[in-house]
Amino acid sequence: MFTKILIANRGEIACRVAATARRMGIKTVAVYSDADAQAKHVAACDESVHIGGSAPKDSYLRWERIIEAARATGAQAIHPGYGFLSENEDFAAACAGAGLVFIGPPANAIRAMGLKAESKQLMEKAGVPLVPGYHGAGQDPAMLHQEADRIGYPVLIKASAGGGGKGMRLVEKTEDFAAALESCKREAINSFGNDAVLIEKYVLRPRHIEIQVFGDTHGNCVYLFERDCSVQRRHQKVLEEAPAPGMTEALRKQMGEAAVAAAKAVGYVGAGTVEFIVEQPGGYDQPDAMKFYFMEMNTRLQVEHPVTEAITGEDLVQWQLLVANGQPLPKQQGDLKIIGHAIEARICAENPENNFLPATGTLHVYRKPVCSSFSISDVRIDDGVREGDAISPFYDSMIAKLIVHGQDRAQALARLDAALAAVRIVGLQTNVQFLRHILATPSFAQAKLDTALIQREEERLFKRRSLGVDTAAAAAVVAELLLERSSETADPFSRRDGWQSHGVTERRFDFEFGGDKLQAALRYEPSGLVLTVGDVSGPLQFTPTGELVELQYNGHRDQVQTWQQGEVVHVFAPRGAAEITAIDALAHAGDAGSEGGRLTAPMPGKVVSFAVKAGDKVSKGQPLAVMEAMKMEHTIAAPADGEVVELLFVPGDQVTEGAELLKLKVAE
Ligand code: ADP
Ligand code: ADP
Ligand code: MG
Repeated sequence: MFTKILIANRGEIACRVAATARRMGIKTVAVYSDADAQAKHVAACDESVHIGGSAPKDSYLRWERIIEAARATGAQAIHPGYGFLSENEDFAAACAGAGLVFIGPPANAIRAMGLKAESKQLMEKAGVPLVPGYHGAGQDPAMLHQEADRIGYPVLIKASAGGGGKGMRLVEKTEDFAAALESCKREAINSFGNDAVLIEKYVLRPRHIEIQVFGDTHGNCVYLFERDCSVQRRHQKVLEEAPAPGMTEALRKQMGEAAVAAAKAVGYVGAGTVEFIVEQPGGYDQPDAMKFYFMEMNTRLQVEHPVTEAITGEDLVQWQLLVANGQPLPKQQGDLKIIGHAIEARICAENPENNFLPATGTLHVYRKPVCSSFSISDVRIDDGVREGDAISPFYDSMIAKLIVHGQDRAQALARLDAALAAVRIVGLQTNVQFLRHILATPSFAQAKLDTALIQREEERLFKRRSLGVDTAAAAAVVAELLLERSSETADPFSRRDGWQSHGVTERRFDFEFGGDKLQAALRYEPSGLVLTVGDVSGPLQFTPTGELVELQYNGHRDQVQTWQQGEVVHVFAPRGAAEITAIDALAHAGDAGSEGGRLTAPMPGKVVSFAVKAGDKVSKGQPLAVMEAMKMEHTIAAPADGEVVELLFVPGDQVTEGAELLKLKVAE
């Protein structure tokens, strides 16, 4: 076995690989960029090599530097993680050229599966079912249009080199085809440097079910069952679970064998995932009617691999290391079994309310549910950050993966909800409450899954509050009282009755909650405290224990935990979380209104395009510009009716956060 490997990645996956290597007695070398000098993955490895600037192209994508680092440190193999160089056939070949083992498939298998269109041609030959469509080499627009008409609408145009949910266009009718093709090709050339497309029948209400496969150099290839990744936003996975609800033994075997055939067709070695789109013509309750079609193969370890580890009890990184070392697979197909049910939630720095716009910032508070670090356990967290670390704009917005296991789906869901409730993050926006809302939808709870679940359940998912203003205000008032108490002297008399000893009988608090201003009044009555929040009034009781406070107000009893960040009070309770701002009226006396015509970049990134030019009249909500940051496109819309005065950048320009993109004259 190798004695030392280099991990050519960062974040949670670098930490994840390091954990298994350590368990196997293999030393690890981390590589890191400027931004990651103090990162958790560097601390997780035995040694580390600085490889360049913060942008991926200056560090994690510089494969000459990485190979040099492996040689300098005496590493014998390189684990690429996912993303970055993991599916780069040139890198895989260069490793071999430098006498290093690439812990992944052979370069030619990566190549064969690298382009969606070409991999489909191969799969067709191997007898793997494909979505009806066109995946030929011809790219003449008129011919593509004819093909789309032949396939029948709706169709999906896909960039053959696409990935990460980008480079796809849904076309509903023939009149829209030409424009969609053009815009798809434009995005494809910009993002992937290749504008070849393929066309697929758009499957309605489908599920995304993928099969984990594993091959070795001795000709063995097995499948480690499926993962259902149907819950998606922007064609990107949000929740992943295994086994797939409603899966029958017969379909599992068929899909597993199709995936193995796909892998064998390209001489696959190592961990891979064959993604299928699954049609449910009989609706959610007819698994026997489900039809599956090959979508693509990802020739790497996948983000959601822990779900498979949880239901099989196998360590997939260990398998990768064994296979890369030339050993046979540790298990044959017949030895593999599914144990219970597992589900993973991706905790991301983002704002679900604003079209999942990625967020950046510092994890001032980052507390996790109690868990064990690896292998089958009820709760597992894979992350690459620690309290105090920043989520920077350079890399993706995933903070952590929370994986739970249970005897069955219901137990796994309940455990996931409880684990999410125990996550405490202060300092940036996250999707934690949104994830809990998904778990609570009837569709998800009853496993009525398809890739449109989030849109379908919109009303239950967005603009929802898990904690009402009553609890939030009560918690903020209590936090203030406790803060005052703790800052008073140790004199037992002043401590016992706090502010009341100063002769105050009623106090007023000004709050802002969800955009609304409100007042609260706290009265000290012989029977105890009475709090009025808006039109609610009633006794307020609280008992602090350590960091928690048991709070009773307006019919709720909650174990709350609060953090104050400036004026904002972050309130966490098992029921949910909320933010409430305690306004210091004096401090805001001179505040001006909003800045009308300024349109600024919400985060550092690249200007992709402008939809308007100087002199154009625009109406409120109209898209003005598209930016790309954190691997996503963000549309910047007009805040009000007005006229465009000037564009301040050209497409392709890099802009810093807060940079003014264009000037808009707001109509009177
Ligand atoms: P899956 O692995 O299930 O297909 P994704 O497509 O979201 O899920 O995961 C792969 C993506 O993760 C990459 O394409 C890239 O956008 C992102 N990524 C790459 N490297 C890292 C990293 N070190 N940490 C976090 N995310 C990364
Ligand atoms: P990527 O390379 O971005 O992962 P995929 O081809 O794997 O692209 O597709 C990503 C997602 O897009 C799928 O999980 C599914 O939600 C949706 N999708 C892809 N192909 C189809 C299709 N033919 N019909 C309906 N939805 C599709
Ligand atoms: Mg995919």
